[in-house]
Amino acid sequence: MAGLYQRCFAALVWGSVRTALRLLLLMGLALGATVGPLTPPALAADPAFDFSDWHYPVPAGKWLISRGPCGGNGLFSHDCEYFEDRCAFDLTPLDAGMDSVPVLAPQAGQVFFAGNRTDSGLSVMLRHPDGRVSALFHLSRIVVAPEARVAQGQVVGYAGSSGSSTGPHLHFDVQPNAVERSCLPLETIDEFDRRTMTIVSHNLAWPVLTLPDPPADLPGWLPLSGPLAERPLVVFPGSLLLAPGASFVVPVAVQTAAVPLGGLQFNGQRLTATDVVGEYSLFALPLTTPNTLGAYSRALALRPAAGRTTPRTALLRFTVRAAPDLSATLGMVVINPSFLAPLNYSYHTRTPQLCWSESPAAGPGPLTFRAMAVGPQAADSGWITATCWQPPPLAPGRYFWKVFVRDGQGYMIRPNQRPWTFKLRAGS
Ligand SMILES: [Zn+2]
Repeated sequence: MAGLYQRCFAALVWGSVRTALRLLLLMGLALGATVGPLTPPALAADPAFDFSDWHYPVPAGKWLISRGPCGGNGLFSHDCEYFEDRCAFDLTPLDAGMDSVPVLAPQAGQVFFAGNRTDSGLSVMLRHPDGRVSALFHLSRIVVAPEARVAQGQVVGYAGSSGSSTGPHLHFDVQPNAVERSCLPLETIDEFDRRTMTIVSHNLAWPVLTLPDPPADLPGWLPLSGPLAERPLVVFPGSLLLAPGASFVVPVAVQTAAVPLGGLQFNGQRLTATDVVGEYSLFALPLTTPNTLGAYSRALALRPAAGRTTPRTALLRFTVRAAPDLSATLGMVVINPSFLAPLNYSYHTRTPQLCWSESPAAGPGPLTFRAMAVGPQAADSGWITATCWQPPPLAPGRYFWKVFVRDGQGYMIRPNQRPWTFKLRAGS
């Protein structure tokens, strides 16, 4: 990610916030420490976050970290302009393009944000059951709707170069929660090699992927990007969910020994291999879906040369279903709410009511809000229309809180504004 305007703006805002914090600290010291510690949210890994059942968000196989976390020793690392960049991996194939590669959920969760974000382009952010948020940026296409529940390995979109990006890649980072501006190291997911800056994804492989509405130009090398446990005759995607009347190309790998000299026949067309990789030949199957919803299959005929053996066929199965409504994933609300109460860095003996305001100009109404607080405990208002929310009683400690805004069309603010904080003392 990059963006001069954003960077300057952020620097200005943070500069003034820091100045204000320093003043507050001095005032606090003068008043007998009525102000809490002013260190920003910790960036270090929390040992409570275990990644052993997570996977990298790309199909099974080996991938290059084209840019590592900011401040890293590697030749290519992120600039440190966004807090996410302190932990982010940019992923690309070892020796091919990343355009239109399926992007998979790294863990089960719910779509928290799906839309356009400044600099990060078309983006999907997933919120996982323990509150962690994974971010997948610079997509060319999003195929999940806001609030949709996703399974680990589910395709949420296709990689691209949207937003501020120098070429197709997948930006991946994980944040401990949706409120604090911090991120978690990704090195303990699946297999990571610091020396070669490569990872091996243990996420789903091509033959078991369910591809919803793939773009016209799926990369042909994908069927072989991951390890093939067995040696199937034909490697198809596991399942295709397609919009009516869609036209695109399905990459398919066929054992070269099974490919007759005359090539393959599909839908009455003769196809020739686009590439040969190891014992497989790659083919591109052009497919236009019917306009009627339903389940379909198309035969891929492996006609033997000279007719010595009977023809073998493999079936490409696909489902034509109504295109999902992704209208709410096309834009974002650009105005952030103003926090009203409790005052930032204030002390309380009871969990305070959280209040904010938002200009009606934020977008077409009705606006809905979601307040979240994190600290020793976490609280989440869910989407509400009121501009005040009383969290349940929380344990003593320091809390960060933040408000997310959605407009009447479902557009949401770019969820990276700074949180406010309050401190709960043990009850009197
Ligand atoms: Zn990145």
